[in-house]
Amino acid sequence: MKFYHFFLVVLFLWSGYGQDMTSVINIEQNKEQPYVDFLVGESHVTMLPNDKKIKGAVQYSFRIVKPTSRIKVDAQNMSIASVLLNTKNVDFKYDNKAILISSDFEVDQEYIIKIEFSAIPKKALYFVKDHNDEDQIWTQGQGKYTSNWLPSFDDMNEKVEFDITIDFKKGYEVIANGKLVKNEVINDSIQRWKYDMRHPMSSYLVAFAIGKYDKKVETSASNIPLEMYYHPDNVDKYESTYKHSKDIFDFLEKEIGFAYPWQNYKQIPVKDFLYAGMENTGTTIFSDAFMVDETAFIDQNYINVNAHELAHQWFGNLVTAKEGTHHWLQEGFATYYALLAEKEIFGEDYFLFKLYESAEQLTELSKSSQATSLLDADASSLTFYQRGAWALHALRNLIGDTSFKITVHNYLETFKFENVDTNDFIEIATKVSGTDLSDFRKIWLENVKFPSQKALNLLTTSNFIKSYLTLAQERTQPLAGKWNTLTKSLDFPVNDYIGQEVVYQLEGITTPENIVIYDKAFATNNVFVRQAIANTLSTVPKDLQKQYESLLKDPSYATIEPALYNLWVSFPEKRKEYLETTKNIIGFSSKNVRILWLVLALNTEGFETENHQKFFLELSGYTSSKYGFSTRENAFTYLESMQAFSDLSLQYLVDGAMHHNWRFRNSCRKILDKLIINEKYKKKYVVLMDSLSKKQQDFLQSKLTP
Ligand SMILES: [Zn+2]
Repeated sequence: MKFYHFFLVVLFLWSGYGQDMTSVINIEQNKEQPYVDFLVGESHVTMLPNDKKIKGAVQYSFRIVKPTSRIKVDAQNMSIASVLLNTKNVDFKYDNKAILISSDFEVDQEYIIKIEFSAIPKKALYFVKDHNDEDQIWTQGQGKYTSNWLPSFDDMNEKVEFDITIDFKKGYEVIANGKLVKNEVINDSIQRWKYDMRHPMSSYLVAFAIGKYDKKVETSASNIPLEMYYHPDNVDKYESTYKHSKDIFDFLEKEIGFAYPWQNYKQIPVKDFLYAGMENTGTTIFSDAFMVDETAFIDQNYINVNAHELAHQWFGNLVTAKEGTHHWLQEGFATYYALLAEKEIFGEDYFLFKLYESAEQLTELSKSSQATSLLDADASSLTFYQRGAWALHALRNLIGDTSFKITVHNYLETFKFENVDTNDFIEIATKVSGTDLSDFRKIWLENVKFPSQKALNLLTTSNFIKSYLTLAQERTQPLAGKWNTLTKSLDFPVNDYIGQEVVYQLEGITTPENIVIYDKAFATNNVFVRQAIANTLSTVPKDLQKQYESLLKDPSYATIEPALYNLWVSFPEKRKEYLETTKNIIGFSSKNVRILWLVLALNTEGFETENHQKFFLELSGYTSSKYGFSTRENAFTYLESMQAFSDLSLQYLVDGAMHHNWRFRNSCRKILDKLIINEKYKKKYVVLMDSLSKKQQDFLQSKLTP
């Protein structure tokens, strides 16, 4: 998730604060509106999916803490029907960005303001259709501003207890922050869902999701209900998707050493999500591309995102960074704790290798012009996430496990439900450990250069990393000098990463000596070592044909896809056989194997010729908006290379070019821009114009007549 909007002026005022001020003063000084404290926000909304519209009312109770005659509530491009102060009409101004309410406010008094509103949000609230053309509606507040769908506060230092009530048509599941306290039938068609929060949070964490869902509920060791949602059609993927969820929860709660602060924890997969996942308070929303079967689990599982968003429930949601300079207090912590959770599942080597990989990336970044310190609001996400995690790993090594854990506990206890900066954390660590952390601060947080050597020193206490690095040093050596080393490195039991490194060093070169090593690599039966072969050995020699063909049966869609393609190219006489072997495999949620299979089938002479029309329809059909955007993108790319767009896929391309996911949208626009230079497609689009929506017509018109 990208960044927020920051209030830099306030930051300057606040640069020289003392240690002993109370946290109350702390918060006020960083708030955009230090004269008011918003307490509880009760909203009651309903959705009109056909118009992509939300309407309803929100009521805030607030206390005036310093003299003021005006308060502000952010609201982007809304219709404001009325504003009531203590149930009476009140003077307000609205400039499409914020509602300004003026009155003779008195210090220490509590007030209630009620805002009636409606909005057709351009962002932060998304109305999509699932694969069965049923409504799916969800929010994304971070980086997008909740004030696009709910009058609220763009300032993350304003923490409010948000209770949401949603009316929606029957037959859907409505999920929001907090505990469901009422679920009642209003009339023949409407159901009301009332959610209750106990504690305050920043507005960007307010969320809901609506869709056709089933759920399973487990209970954590500490008695927190863990609600895991899934589309009923994905019931067979439930186990492999949510695998280890309870263990991750129990582990993190123990490791962090602070009781999970919210009433429950819900996880909801949604279609065409903008990111991998978002840690809304108690209510993580994640991309349904992570709904995986057992085979996809090997390469694209939900474990990391699961643990990352859960860790944010403490780091980000319970304690929230005051502003972007301290973003690592959220992302660095979430990354580090997710890695610790993964270590429990995938082991020590996995943990160390991930740290090694990120150290390599950070070292590269360090050499570039984009290098920044960790305490820079404009730092890259690599810096906030990975360097942040590294800083914590280094700190833990420096002050020891016990001091580290006490520090984290005291930090959360001191600042719970408040906002924090880097000093808050470092001061507690200094006090707990009795260690002067000024060097640590300079090296790991403030310096622009990533301390690569220090990172490496922390890793090379491991024998695995030592052996890996010894082997990696051979990369520049000619093959003739290292056959023995490479062969020996594949001895049983082979290590995933060392085995892969051997394969990479063979560089797809198939001399007789290399073939012997490839042979041994195949025989390790290690799925990752074999995947490395599929990815790097594209021209398959006759001597390895048999072994290579066995890759088509490996339990990895990331292996089968390149293996199928490379075999199809290398052995034309066996194309039909390869297609036969793989005809029932779909692959990841992008349908990577199936889409490749269709393209190859269409290009294989004499293979089920009578079905070619059917295959083409299926391939074209994957461009439809009923599929997730990764499937569509995949299909569009192949259709472009085949120059074989059907009328329907041309229409879906326009739909894709206006999609809410900018990456997908841009890739569709690129293809569309190339197509309309071609007279044939340009003419087709002129004919198709009438079958498009008004919005799509306007967009296409602007493309056709620039
Ligand atoms: Zn995060």
